[in-house]
Amino acid sequence: MIKTKFNLGDEVYYLTENPFPVDSHVCPDCDGAGYYLTVTNRQLDCDKCKGKGQITKFALGWQVLKGEINMIFNEDQKNPLVLYNLFNEGEDFYENQLYFAEKEAQAACDKLNKIK
Ligand SMILES: [Zn+2]
Repeated sequence: MIKTKFNLGDEVYYLTENPFPVDSHVCPDCDGAGYYLTVTNRQLDCDKCKGKGQITKFALGWQVLKGEINMIFNEDQKNPLVLYNLFNEGEDFYENQLYFAEKEAQAACDKLNKIK
């Protein structure tokens, strides 16, 4: 058994790059209804907001998420680097990509977002 920084079941924080909403406002074309009424009173979905009534702008940015360690393994037979798999997360993480403290993760996240 090798000694690892994190153990199975540990709750950790990690960073992920995702689109997140930066601005949302009521659709000016349909006034937030999401549809128009035709002269014959038929409802037609608004093209501009695709029937949602809101226009939301997204930007790509880093974000802190919380996860739980599901699996710990070596990258391969020859490589002793430890990888961690988290529940509900497709990607695997190296030790230096995980944080015990949310504050630490947030600091790393802010740094990454500033570079962009
Ligand atoms: Zn609309």
